[in-house]
Amino acid sequence: MKPLIAGNWKMNGLGEAISEVQSLIAKFDGSAPDDRDVLICPPATLIGRFAAEFADEAIQIGGQDCHAKESGAHTGDISAAMLADAGAAYVIVGHSERRADHDELNADVKAKAEAVLSAGLIPIICVGETEKERKEERALEVVGTQLKESLPETADEFVIAYEPVWAIGTGLTPTLNDIAEMHRFIRSQTREDIRLLYGGSVSPTNAAEILAIDHVNGALVGGASLKADDFHSIVMAAKGA
Ligand code: PEP
Repeated sequence: MKPLIAGNWKMNGLGEAISEVQSLIAKFDGSAPDDRDVLICPPATLIGRFAAEFADEAIQIGGQDCHAKESGAHTGDISAAMLADAGAAYVIVGHSERRADHDELNADVKAKAEAVLSAGLIPIICVGETEKERKEERALEVVGTQLKESLPETADEFVIAYEPVWAIGTGLTPTLNDIAEMHRFIRSQTREDIRLLYGGSVSPTNAAEILAIDHVNGALVGGASLKADDFHSIVMAAKGA
């Protein structure tokens, strides 16, 4: 399976940040290797600009969230159709920061994933347990419920990102065994051809060992995706298909 290395810029990046993507592409000697997919999800304000600027490069641009409806009276929201129109190829849905900051439930995440598919884009559906849930040894149960309730009914292609909430932006990561156990479990709950990403404090230092785990088909990278050097190292740590 072709690995996917996706960068989630969150609420970071003004127009000048385009130079960071240009540096990344320069490190690839002009174009990213075609045995792996490279995706950058900048803030919505930069999607159109990045998609136009990098249309001829082997990197893709994605959104970080969308509304479940195609259009209508939803001030400040952006639909998946609008993201497609701006040049996005993927949309992250159900990130734990959206679930926590905007009270998004599994049903909302599923509706958004279905909206992304209807717009012809690929949803990256995030799941993951809190620290308390892991300590209570409920991680598999929690993620199992999230999968059951957040995944679209039918879809040719979607991506699942396992992101333990307590590992996001903290520098903490689960043990390699814990990642392997969770990815085996997620694989058992979905299809063989669905890419499963790990996310949570992936760095140039830990990327190779995490990306070598069975059923880890790529990474969702937050902080380290903002720096061309770090993101390039992570992309290159993936074993190409
Ligand atoms: C994320 O926000 O999806 C993420 C994984 O962040 P970080 O890599 O900074 O932990």
